[in-house]
Amino acid sequence: MKSAEIRQKFLDFFASKGHQIVASSSLIPANDPTLLFTNAGMNQFKDVFLGFDKRPYTRATTSQKCVRAGGKHNDLENVGYTARHHTFFEMLGNFSFGDYFKEDAIKYAWEFLTSPQWLGLPKEKLMVTVYATDDEAYDLWHKQIGVPAEKIVRIGDNKGAPYASDNFWTMGDTGPCGPCTEIFYDHGAHIWGGPPGSPEEDGDRFIEIWNNVFMQFNRDESGTLHPLPKPSVDTGMGLERISAVLQHVHANYEIDLFVALLKAAAKETGVPYNQDTPSLKVIADHIRACSFLIADGVMPANDGRGYVLRRIIRRAIRHGYKLGQKGLFFHKLVGALAAEMGDAYPELRIRQAVIEDALRQEEEIFSRTLENGMALLDEALAGGKTVLDGATAFKLSDTFGFPIDLTADVCREREVSVDMEGYERALDAQRKQSKAAGTFKMAAGLAYEGDASCFHGYTESSHDAKVVALYKGN
Ligand code: ATP
Ligand code: MG
Ligand code: MG
Ligand code: MG
Repeated sequence: MKSAEIRQKFLDFFASKGHQIVASSSLIPANDPTLLFTNAGMNQFKDVFLGFDKRPYTRATTSQKCVRAGGKHNDLENVGYTARHHTFFEMLGNFSFGDYFKEDAIKYAWEFLTSPQWLGLPKEKLMVTVYATDDEAYDLWHKQIGVPAEKIVRIGDNKGAPYASDNFWTMGDTGPCGPCTEIFYDHGAHIWGGPPGSPEEDGDRFIEIWNNVFMQFNRDESGTLHPLPKPSVDTGMGLERISAVLQHVHANYEIDLFVALLKAAAKETGVPYNQDTPSLKVIADHIRACSFLIADGVMPANDGRGYVLRRIIRRAIRHGYKLGQKGLFFHKLVGALAAEMGDAYPELRIRQAVIEDALRQEEEIFSRTLENGMALLDEALAGGKTVLDGATAFKLSDTFGFPIDLTADVCREREVSVDMEGYERALDAQRKQSKAAGTFKMAAGLAYEGDASCFHGYTESSHDAKVVALYKGN
């Protein structure tokens, strides 16, 4: 089953259960300064959950464009390393605004996944998690649906928990949130990884395909949870992940849509097509994020959302360079993307020339400094060094236009860590200097300023803490 058919089936299924099909919203969240990019299907309904906005329907279903490259849900560092993470992906969702709650949400999800009339997945390959204290969800899975006890795992909110799993979903630091139940697919014992809640859960054997969130609270700035006017449901299933399952492949990069993009990336970078080449995966991933962001009106810039876009573009260009492509190539992939996804997202075709121009310009700018920057980096690491000093990392960003995460990306490949503290000291010193000279400008006062404007490194979430640890080499 092609990805496009799966998307349609999902919408048809929920329409048959009385859900209104609603179009994807823009990747730029409307009126929400707490959010960098749209990161989940529920974003466009945030005010409906909070009770500030009313719609003529109480059930909705969408296929939502999402980008997770900054802010609370940041998967940029995972791209090219896991089988399941993208910066841009499509999230299929069904929503209840004070209409049905846990029982129907669970029944619908199971019916869609396992009924032969819909996806017909083998039940024994599925596992579920529930929030640690959610006996109601546990009983629904166990007694009503018949999932055996050994395939249901209780997981908490990860505060002090030994592993990464988290069954309390939050959109960001504030906003609607609640306990969730997640559905995992077992890709088989030949793949490394363990079930959710086990020490090996970060492997790619058991892949989370669908999250059903029971929206019950609004979290305020102080972290206090306030009950929502009406308990609601918000779900999200990654289209690429469910496509991989249905197309009998393991990694998202092996699905129909990605194979076409990987082939185009191989052609434009001049290397043989191989679906295991990490740089090709990164390029195929990034062309989607960059094209969709530009189509929605983000342009490369030195701060804010535009800087996140710039970082993603430059990372992609550097991966092309790594494959030996020193010329301009990235913008040439837009056509292949539009061919794959333009039917579902006409903005790709309508804005194709704008996207290509913006990417080509960025390639032209960065190609002037990339080669010299790489030479500096090589020189700094010569002689088997295991740490890149902060001054060089700073010089790379300041003089050669290497965003710090790009430098870190190169270092990670070479198993070298970056002295992030040294980098920050150099950055601070420069800031003080330019402030003294009266030229320092604060970045746009958005919540992600620290991340987006000058990239202070990751300090916020647990995932980000892991990245800091990675930079520090532990
Ligand atoms: P994971 O634990 O694998 O990182 P998640 O728990 O962060 O996923 P949710 O926030 O629950 O993901 O999002 C709902 C669904 O969206 C997931 O079950 C998954 O199918 C999909 N999804 C989440 N992040 C990504 C991503 N970076 N790329 C592709 N699909 C994703
Ligand atoms: Mg995640
Ligand atoms: Mg998860
Ligand atoms: Mg999840």
